[in-house]
Formats: sequence, C-alpha cells, structure tokens
Amino acid sequence: MHKDDEPAKPGWRGWTTDNRAMFRLTGEHITWICGCGKPISSGTGYITTDDHIADRYAHESEEFWRRREQAESGNGIALTRASDIPFHAPVPWRAWHQKCDPNPEDDAYWFDVHRADTLRKLMHWAGHLMGKTWVTFTDLPDLLMRMGQDA
Ligand SMILES: [Zn+2]
Repeated sequence: MHKDDEPAKPGWRGWTTDNRAMFRLTGEHITWICGCGKPISSGTGYITTDDHIADRYAHESEEFWRRREQAESGNGIALTRASDIPFHAPVPWRAWHQKCDPNPEDDAYWFDVHRADTLRKLMHWAGHLMGKTWVTFTDLPDLLMRMGQDA
C-alpha cells in the first residue's frame, strides 16, 4: 500500500536528512544556507546536485523495467525478486559557497543562488528541471515540500 501524498521521510530508500540543501524564507525571498551554516549572497554560491549519479540511477531503473517487460513477454530472463529492483537513496541537492564546495572541480549540475532566490524563481527552475529524466532520482520533491511547508 502506498500513499502518493506521503512526503519522503528519513530512512526512505536509505535517504537521510543530514545533507539536504538548507534555506530560510522571508516572505517570497529565499536565502540559501551553505553547508558551512552561513547564508549565501548572490554571486558567491550555488545550488547543485550530482546529475551524473542521478542519470546513472535513471538508466539502471529504465534498464530494469525494460528487461522485466521482455521477461514478461517471454523473450528474456525473468527478474522477479524484489531485491533486483534498483532502488537508490535520492541524490541530494546542496547549497554551497564557491569557497566551501568540497568538490569544486566536478562538473555537477548547478545554479547560481540568484536564479532561485524567490519562490517564483524557484517555481520556474523546478519546472525547467522536471524536463530532465534524472531529476526524479534527486531529492527535489523533498526540497519543494519543505519550502512549501515553511512558506
Ligand atoms: Zn559556506
């Protein structure tokens, strides 16, 4: 039994709250908080996620369901064990100052904080991200739900 309106909870698919993107809301304005605990002003930091890992999860998941479909039509190897289902903890979004990012040289997906410093801008940004297959494998739903609850 699965309730669609149930938000992600710590422990869900091994996901934790330890490394989520943090923020503060003042009316419509969003102040992103760096992993160092200090606010990020425009031009000094960004919001980022490892889209390569999320993309790999997306492909694994796609491959699993493709093979399962083949098996069901009698053309492949049956994959019926629950343990075969490739569940992963969602890949977290993080906010960092440029100087605090522990992996500044990686080519992870990122946005400058000024592109998502109001609820309207974040809405636009989230809509844009939803066009990407891999985004389902990140904790964006949790981020948006937390943002909505605090508004
Ligand atoms: Zn910082």
